Amino acid sequence: MITVEEAIEQVLSRIEVLEPERVELLDALGRVLAEDVVSDVDVSPFDNSAMDGYALRYADVAHASEASLVTLRVIEHIPAGIAPRRRVGPGEASRIMTGAPMPEGADAVVMVEKTRPGENDGVAGGTVEILTAPKPGEHIRAKAEEVRAGEAVLLRGERIGPAAIGLSASVGHADLLVHRRPRVAIVSTGDELVEVAEKPGPGKIRNSNSYSLAAQVLEAGGEPHLLGVARDTEAATRALLSRAPEYDLMVTTGGVSVGDFDVVKKVLSEIGELDFWRVAMRPGAPQTFGTVGGAPFFGLPGNPTSTMVGFELFVRPALRKMAGFSSLIRPRAVATLTHDVKKKADRRYFLRGRLTRTGDGYSASISGNQSSALLTAMHRGNCLISLPEGTDLVPAGSLVTCIRLDMEEGTA
Ligand code: AMP
Ligand code: MG
Repeated sequence: MITVEEAIEQVLSRIEVLEPERVELLDALGRVLAEDVVSDVDVSPFDNSAMDGYALRYADVAHASEASLVTLRVIEHIPAGIAPRRRVGPGEASRIMTGAPMPEGADAVVMVEKTRPGENDGVAGGTVEILTAPKPGEHIRAKAEEVRAGEAVLLRGERIGPAAIGLSASVGHADLLVHRRPRVAIVSTGDELVEVAEKPGPGKIRNSNSYSLAAQVLEAGGEPHLLGVARDTEAATRALLSRAPEYDLMVTTGGVSVGDFDVVKKVLSEIGELDFWRVAMRPGAPQTFGTVGGAPFFGLPGNPTSTMVGFELFVRPALRKMAGFSSLIRPRAVATLTHDVKKKADRRYFLRGRLTRTGDGYSASISGNQSSALLTAMHRGNCLISLPEGTDLVPAGSLVTCIRLDMEEGTA
């Protein structure tokens, strides 16, 4: 049996980043950029007002206050999207809206709330009373304050979030070059499995793993392809496993332990290469990894929680690497364990748990029955509590590392 770290290392050494593709802007959400995004304009493109108010000359109103109002003549009304036509001279102001270009001559904006309409209600041709002195340059968004034309606003390797989508749009990119989403084939194995819509007959259960795995693939940014269920024969298993090279990666569940009908490992050795098949962990020691026709292959154990934990530890980092991410693992938190846990000393344990904030730190408790056949503790939990090898008792009060399932890596 190899350790969890050895297994992750072996997996990642087999995984290559997928080639980039050009996609429409919104389809790039959540993906990793494969090129710098360069602006074709200055941002802001011109000096403009950050407020609805009056563009004026600072010198005219430097001493304005409620007690000493300054009255200015309003010479023009500048809505957003319209170029000003008149220069603001001494004693003058232009009524200006947010985002409208600053007129020549003006060097500050006073927001409308700090003014009072004078003659003709403060519109062009009338007057406005200024109640407070602005700072020089106040409420002006300067041309090129964020970037200059020709400069990069986003860098290769960065993850595209909503703000990056907005930035790309503002600098003229209707499509982006991003890494491809991994296409993941999902196969369940087992004579006992029936489809979700069916009521299981005697000895049968519903195939739930195909769906939890597909959901994990989606959350990890991959594209799941459900290939269905392989019955527990070598021929049926071979028929589905041999389709692995049509995808970027294949994941199967079940059929990898030492039962009489566990044929996945045997078929894998025949039609592909087996790298490892047991990892010193619980739940789910029979974690199998190899390749079929060059495609990475994961044979996860069948118990529903073991499947999900195996995906989390081994498949998810592989998918992230394929998708171009440089950070591959979830954030960790150190927490105080709230109860004793007995364990086997030769294995790493991953308890389904709940991380709770306590003053300046965290505490971690199990989130329900830890049977690997049950999924409720996984659903109610928000972390995997990792308990190290080399000890058979982790007492309450110990500091433990928790893998935060409630957080995605923030950046690439
Ligand atoms: P196996 O490793 O094939 O012996 O499966 C271990 C346990 O997981 C057995 O109780 C199976 O019935 C169950 N199991 C296997 N595959 C699935 C699946 N796709 N959905 C739900 N449970 C499964
Ligand atoms: Mg089985």
